[in-house]
Amino acid sequence: MRRRRPTLLTRPARWEPPQPAWLDPQPVRQHPGVALPAHTRSVASPGPWTSRWAFAPTWQGRAGAVIDYAVWLAGRVDLLTAARTELAGANLACYCPLDEPCHRDVLLDVANPPADPLAGGRAVGLTLRRPWASLLLVPRHLGGIPIHTCTWSTDYRGPVCIFAGTRIVASAKSTAATAGLDADWHTKQTGWLGAAVLVNIHRAGRHCCQPRGAHPRNHDDRLYHWVFTNPGRLALPTYGRGFLGLRAVSWTVLMRRRALGFTHLRPSPDPSTPTPAAPPPGASP
Ligand SMILES: [Zn+2]
Ligand SMILES: [Zn+2]
Repeated sequence: MRRRRPTLLTRPARWEPPQPAWLDPQPVRQHPGVALPAHTRSVASPGPWTSRWAFAPTWQGRAGAVIDYAVWLAGRVDLLTAARTELAGANLACYCPLDEPCHRDVLLDVANPPADPLAGGRAVGLTLRRPWASLLLVPRHLGGIPIHTCTWSTDYRGPVCIFAGTRIVASAKSTAATAGLDADWHTKQTGWLGAAVLVNIHRAGRHCCQPRGAHPRNHDDRLYHWVFTNPGRLALPTYGRGFLGLRAVSWTVLMRRRALGFTHLRPSPDPSTPTPAAPPPGASP
């Protein structure tokens, strides 16, 4: 009798954010003095859709500027409504190169809000346990903990929307209290809390990122430190549901569904939504 080969549990292939279909409205690069293509609206300066944070000198600063814009836009119900009438269905143009973080990505999602924001979009989302999720969005100089310890890595760098899941890590509460933060308040924060820029991932060593990052207990522990900067927090969290791994989501996860024109507060589960590649067990912090 032939013995069946044991199934190897392999790590997932490199994760890459899925691209919206070519029929969806696309980002366009605008050039001074050059006419825009058909079906394209400019969201660059000057105009009502300009981002006042757009002129950061570094890539990290520009990624943070996109987060600042998204968090600010989440509170502007007037602009969220106007985007759906003035920008829906149009390609959106800005002077930023297409491979740079730009606020036109936020506006593309907001102008064409999907019924299920987890079905894909131009942002990236991550579920963290409580209160780690909330602590990550506190500025570092105010005692924030911008290091996420994880058993897997990714090539993605850029803005990440942070979802505070249902699970609570008791040890994190004492870490918060040691940092002088209100552990109970941070533990109560659930849902989409805001976003931060993922700038670096490295193998956790015994002495790096102390006292904020966990270190391997023995040589077999494969742990990574995900380093975040430029946190942007919503005034109030928005409703959502957790998921495994890093996945493409719509920037509208940060917006209230009523402000996006949806009358049903909770999106119905979409059976056609593909299941994301699951990271190895224990992937969350
Ligand atoms: Zn731009
Ligand atoms: Zn480290």
